[in-house]
Formats: sequence, structure tokens, C-alpha cells
Amino acid sequence: MKKYCETNPKLKKPKKIEYKELYGAWGRCNLNKDKLTFHILLKYFPEKHIEHVVYHEMIHTYCLNHNPPFYNEMKKIYPDWQKWDHELKLLLYLLDTNEIYSWYNEFQNQKKKQNNKNTDELIKKKEKFKE
Ligand SMILES: [Zn+2]
Repeated sequence: MKKYCETNPKLKKPKKIEYKELYGAWGRCNLNKDKLTFHILLKYFPEKHIEHVVYHEMIHTYCLNHNPPFYNEMKKIYPDWQKWDHELKLLLYLLDTNEIYSWYNEFQNQKKKQNNKNTDELIKKKEKFKE
């Protein structure tokens, strides 16, 4: 992100960066929360492909829609941005997404369990306090 900010003064690093399961997109841009969200599967892709998605989302911070000005900005660094989009789709076919998602769901369940445990403990503490 830093190198993009250096080449284009309009770009800035968002306050928050989040990774999660997205549907129909590699990234999302939330201006109100100053947050960029990236698909969890991206980390299985080559660095060049990730960078291209990061740049795409960073442009959205000042160019919301996929309109000609947006693609002009995109072409400044990725003149062949279509090729990158296309390759991401191809790479997705090669990934064993089922295995990754089952791992991810397991991870989320563990997190939920941990959270429930924490709330249980909090409730216990409160009850003890009442006694
Ligand atoms: Zn976009």
C-alpha cells in the first residue's frame, strides 16, 4: 500500500483492513468506516495478484464506481488489469476451496466457542458479585 501511496498522492492507507469470506468480490471498500475488506482466499494467490486487488480497492476510496475515470487510474499501474482479473478467476479453479473453507469454518467456530466461554465466565462473575 505504501508504494502505491507514494506513486499517487490521492491514495491513502485506510484506518482498518479486514479479511473475510466475501461473495462475488475480491475486495470491498467502506468509506464511512475508512475500511477495506479483502477476501480470505486472496492469501493463497501470488503476491502480484493480491497487489492488483489492493490497488483496485484503494482507487475506490476516491473513485467509487467502475467508470472510465476509475479504469484510467487502474491503467496507470496495471495497463493490463483485465488479464489480472482473468487470472484470478483461473487460479480460483485451481484452489481446493472446499478444504480451505472447511478449515476457515472450523476456525470461526473455535472463535465463537471462545467468545461464548468468555461471556459464560462474565455471567458467572456477575452472579458471584450479586451473592
Ligand atoms: Zn471494484
